[in-house]
Amino acid sequence: MSGRRVLVAGASIAGPALAHWLRRRGAEVTVVERAPGLRPGGQAVDARGVAKEVIRLMGLDAAVRAARTETAGAHHVDADGNVLETFSAEDDGGDGYIADIEILRGDLSQVLYDDTRDGVEYLFGDRIAELAQDADGVDVTFASGSRRRFDLVIGADGLHSALRAMVFGPRERFVRHLGMVLAFYSVPNEFGIDRWLLDYQHEGRSAGLRPLKDDTRAMAMLSFPADGFDVDHRDIEAQKNLLRERMAGLGWRTAEILAHLDDTPDFYLDQVAQVVMDRWSHGRVGLIGDAAFCSSPMSGGGTGLALVGAYLLAGELAAAGWDPEAGFAAYETLMRPYVEANQEIGRLHVQSRDGAELDMEAVMPLVERAINGVELPDYAGVPDSGSSVGSAAR
Ligand SMILES: Cc1cc2nc3c(=O)[nH]c(=O)nc-3n(C[C@H](O)[C@H](O)[C@H](O)COP(=O)(O)OP(=O)(O)OC[C@H]3O[C@@H](n4cnc5c(N)ncnc54)[C@H](O)[C@@H]3O)c2cc1C
Repeated sequence: MSGRRVLVAGASIAGPALAHWLRRRGAEVTVVERAPGLRPGGQAVDARGVAKEVIRLMGLDAAVRAARTETAGAHHVDADGNVLETFSAEDDGGDGYIADIEILRGDLSQVLYDDTRDGVEYLFGDRIAELAQDADGVDVTFASGSRRRFDLVIGADGLHSALRAMVFGPRERFVRHLGMVLAFYSVPNEFGIDRWLLDYQHEGRSAGLRPLKDDTRAMAMLSFPADGFDVDHRDIEAQKNLLRERMAGLGWRTAEILAHLDDTPDFYLDQVAQVVMDRWSHGRVGLIGDAAFCSSPMSGGGTGLALVGAYLLAGELAAAGWDPEAGFAAYETLMRPYVEANQEIGRLHVQSRDGAELDMEAVMPLVERAINGVELPDYAGVPDSGSSVGSAAR
């Protein structure tokens, strides 16, 4: 068997990026996404260091740059709006706190989808209901009732991955809550936000506003500490109520931001959590992106991990002649130190919000590993149909 019919679950960042690389390496790819269409919304996500190189190798540098937010930098402010500290997007060669490539998650997802939609089969509004693997392949039953056989199945279905629960074990075994909840949603720009992000922090809670490409709107960002978190990740009304309750009385412009909770067209709230697993594969089923190694939004590295992981997973599977055991093992060996550095950064950021002082001299080598600490093999002997097959120029 060729081992080249691959089913990917999830069409956000990791899924379409993996679809791009699998197709380039000669696989037939199907992506199944639970939502009825591509999901809009979410915060700005960053691509730094080696992740920028992957975007370039995908032939998507121009498309991604055209869609980025063009944020000039960030001001930390006090309750009256006075600036306390400033970070520029030009700091650290564009790989700093505000990265040179900063793009809304929904916009990056759209770029990746547009690039792959012609060469990849996308099934929206469906999901894997059952799956049974044997030595030669995986039988999949979809929730819609259809049944198909694939050579490999990869979960790119995020922090709450259903595929991970189905094949590897219950979510409590792998998901580590870091004690904080984050929410993002867009609001009318009645706050005078130009190209600078504003951020107000007080006793563990924070509120912020960042510019959007459409300057009539701004993106609100709120966070609060929470030891437990038992709100259903699909119950938006319960999440909004929790946010109202926990952000009450913060000051600065928080009350005006909360006043738009009911009229926002997009809303995202989740616990700050990481996924820690010993293995990211089991037989013919593998995991990528947040499903496998979520580093949390506080790491600023989740998108980079998804993009780099997609390049390596497809490359290593193809280099191993599509042998799952050898391909998954090589992918895990290359990715793990890079994942661990990003997860460590995520944990340190949460601790520093809680008031812990960071020893910057000790942290800098870790930051460097989180940005550039992974080698990208050139896969010279592996088939490559090239980046122009897709419709990136659209
Ligand atoms: C709507 C949305 C908003 C987000 N906003 C932010 C943000 O503001 N800040 C931040 O740091 N990170 C955010 N994230 C997470 C961020 O996208 C990831 O950390 C990172 O980019 C890695 O992406 P991923 O593709 O691995 O996972 P995700 O981006 O979480 O994508 C998982 C995808 O799988 C789909 N899915 C879930 N279950 C199933 C299933 N059973 N079958 C098929 N498909 C399924 C989901 O609908 C989603 O499209 C957001 C994710 C989503 C989906």
